[in-house]
Amino acid sequence: ESKLQLIKTHIRAFPDFPKEGILFRFCSDGGSVPGLDARGFLFGPLLAQRLGLGFVLVRKKGKLPGPTVSVSYELEYGKSDAEVQEDAVAAGQKVLIIDDLLATGGTMFAACELMRKLQAQVLGCMVVVELKDLNGVDRLKPHKVFSLIQY
Ligand code: 5GP
Repeated sequence: ESKLQLIKTHIRAFPDFPKEGILFRFCSDGGSVPGLDARGFLFGPLLAQRLGLGFVLVRKKGKLPGPTVSVSYELEYGKSDAEVQEDAVAAGQKVLIIDDLLATGGTMFAACELMRKLQAQVLGCMVVVELKDLNGVDRLKPHKVFSLIQY
C-alpha cells in the first residue's frame, strides 16, 4: 500500500492533452536512463532498475504531455522528431542513453541533442546491436557507444 502511495506521488495530471477536455495522467519524475521510442523502452527500464535509477521516455513528437523540447532528425527513409519532457532530466545530470540498435546513428544523435538541450551530461550511448558498416559510432563522436553485438 505504501509503495502504491509512493507511485501515486509520481503521477501527474496534464489538462487538455492530447486534446481539449482530456485530463491525461502520466508518470514521470526525472531520471538518468533515457530510452528511445520504441524498442529502447524494452531494454532501458531493465538497466535503470538494475542501477537504481529513473527511466526517461524519449518519444516521437506529440506523445508527451506538458512542456517538451524536441529535435528533428533524418532517417534512412524520411524525417522524424524526437521529444522529451523539459523536466525529465536535471541540468548537469549524468545520463546513459539506451536503444535496441544503432544503424546510421541518426536516432541516437537526436537523443544526444535533446540531452544537450537539457544540459545533461551524456556518459554513453548503449545499444544491444550495432551495424558497424553504417558508421553510427563516428556520427556520435565524442560520445562513447557501447554495444553488445556487432554486425
Ligand atoms: P539509426 O537512426 O541509427 O539509423 O536507426 C536506429 C533506429 O532505427 C533504432 O531506434 C532502431 O530501433 C531502428 N532500426 C534501424 N534499423 C534497424 C534494424 O535493422 N533492426 C531493428 N530492430 N531496428 C532498426
